[in-house]
Amino acid sequence: MPDIITIKLAYTRVYLIKENAKYLVVDTGLKGYSGLLEKGLQENGVGPADISLIVITHVHYDHVGNLAWLKEYCQAPVLVSSVEAGMLEEAKSFTPSGTKLLTRIISGIGKIYNPYASYEPVKPDLIFSDFISLIEYGFSAVIIPTPGHTAGSISVIFGSGEAFVGDTCFRFYNGKSVFPVFANDVHTLLKTWQTLLDSEALVFYPGHGRPFKRDALQESYREINQKHSFKS
Ligand SMILES: [Zn+2]
Repeated sequence: MPDIITIKLAYTRVYLIKENAKYLVVDTGLKGYSGLLEKGLQENGVGPADISLIVITHVHYDHVGNLAWLKEYCQAPVLVSSVEAGMLEEAKSFTPSGTKLLTRIISGIGKIYNPYASYEPVKPDLIFSDFISLIEYGFSAVIIPTPGHTAGSISVIFGSGEAFVGDTCFRFYNGKSVFPVFANDVHTLLKTWQTLLDSEALVFYPGHGRPFKRDALQESYREINQKHSFKS
């Protein structure tokens, strides 16, 4: 099992996964927190040269907010899905749609006013459109497309079962349940959940909230399918 460092930046999480003495970084958190991110790296003894790859799970402002800073800091290549690479280069940002009453309200407000929604553009170095192995980058992991939250969402799954899923799964509210609270396409997202449940993933590390085991996702998936609460 690889070493995993979590750096919390407001309500977002940056993950650093160590294998073969190098770190893979998953997402970069909300804009304006590069100072805290640098502090977190230093506290964990991670220098710029220790980072060999940055993976962006999807191009939402709260996942790419410190990407320009981090890329400048460590000079590591940035990997993103081909579906969202153009957005990153043009620093476009969209507020995701809510799927529940509360998140619809949050989303509605965010579409009108969101002081955090801007970020610096970044030219990605590695753009892919399908399954990719990270072995050649020194990590025993694969990247798979996991659309639904956004069309270009991706997840990183390590051979030992740790899955870094961005906003494909959220863990909010009571901390026990996993909900698709924000999604541009809920039906696609639920297919993605099935893909994740069919994979070797054992523990899920979301972009927001604490990690959870696959039974939590399984349970949530079963409940949602029973209630048909997202059927249009
Ligand atoms: Zn998102």
